[in-house]
Order: sequence, then C-alpha cells, then structure tokens
Amino acid sequence: MKIAVGFDFDHTLAIDNKLERTALIALAKEQGVVIGATEVARIAQIDTLLQEMRMGKLSLEAAIAGFLHSIRKDNRTAALVERFKEICYALIPHHVVALPGANQLIDELDRRGIPHAILTNGWSPLQERKAQAIRYDGEILVSDALGVAKPSREAFARLAAAFPGDAKIWYVGDNPASDVRGSMQAGCEAIWYHEHAGVPYPSHVPPPSAVIDQLLDLVPLLEGADADGKPGCLEAMPKIV
Ligand SMILES: [Mg+2]
Repeated sequence: MKIAVGFDFDHTLAIDNKLERTALIALAKEQGVVIGATEVARIAQIDTLLQEMRMGKLSLEAAIAGFLHSIRKDNRTAALVERFKEICYALIPHHVVALPGANQLIDELDRRGIPHAILTNGWSPLQERKAQAIRYDGEILVSDALGVAKPSREAFARLAAAFPGDAKIWYVGDNPASDVRGSMQAGCEAIWYHEHAGVPYPSHVPPPSAVIDQLLDLVPLLEGADADGKPGCLEAMPKIV
C-alpha cells in the first residue's frame, strides 16, 4: 500500500530556540520594558500566550495585544504586530536549526517517491519561512492559514487532501496529545518522535503506532510496513508510566 508521510515541524524536523519568545522580549525592550531571564512569571505568561496562539485559541494580533497591554497599559498595538513579525523573520537564520537526520530523511523520501508534507500549528508566513530555512521542499500546511489547528480532525483532513487519495498516512510528531492522539483519531498511523530520552510517554494518551528516537529510524519502519501500510516493527513501543 502506498504510504504518505505528514510531519509536525517544531521539535520534530527542527527547533527554533524559542524564536517567538525572543522576539516578544525584543519587542518589549523596544518599548522600554526590559524582561530579564529571571522573570519567570513574565516568561511563563509569554509562553502561555504563544501556546494559545498556536492552538488557535488566540489570534496573533490578540496575543501581541494582550502582551503589550500587560507591559504598557495602552492599546496602540497594530503597528507593533508588524514589528513583532519583522523581528521574528530576522531571527530565523539565527534560531531555526534542523534536527539531526531531518534533511537526509526528506531526501530519502524524495528518492523513494514517498509523498510528504508538513502540518504545523502556528502563524503564516513564519512557519513556512522556518520550514524553508531548513530547505524543506514539500507542501507546508499552517494552522493559521488553514483556519484549523491540530489536534482537530479537520486539520488532519487538510493534510490528507494534500496526498493521493489511496495513500495510508503516517504522521510523525513529538507531541503525544496533538500529534499522536490527533492523527490517530483522524485515521492516520501515528509515529511518536521521542525527542527527549528519559521523557516517558503519558499514560492517559493512546499509544502510538510506533516510536522513533531518531528521524532516520523512520526509513526501516517504512521498509517494514505491512500490506495495509502499517509500521512493520513495533518492538520499540514507549514505556508507559
Ligand atoms: Mg512539535
């Protein structure tokens, strides 16, 4: 059976070293507010806003406005959203790094004629530019542009629409909830990319179809796929705690 592979982006194909957090702190500094590395509550607030934005609970504009209002107590934010975007784009070459094996894996999929695409939560065109920064050459589906975010079935349906209709879709991601559970509920085979050795798989999330510790471990899984397009080697299942 023909297999197509969807990828999560952040912490699966690449890391961006807290690019948007860095950009918000830089934006605050331009507004005269210095946020130090020890300001744990402020940084937690930034990360929460960014997470809610990526999940589609807040627009980018609302996230920036909420942050600026908390530091400045005024409402002139429209121009600063554009400034935030500029800072983010400028940080891409310094922050975005492909994870080991990402480029080799994509080359290997291309060589084998296996269709692939990225489905990522975040805003456009930041996510597209981050993927291009690691020279990703496939289709890039971004929640902000789609109007739907992982883990919704609609988001994975948009990924499926990017592939041949008869393909079995494997989805590779690091997040048990949004990537593994989301893709399984949408009928995909879920491959958990176990990014951090020692971090166990959560017991309240259904186990994935297979686990990889290195991106290139996907290749033998594809080679061993059964006639229904399911991952062939299941011995490396996560230790449930
Ligand atoms: Mg991720």
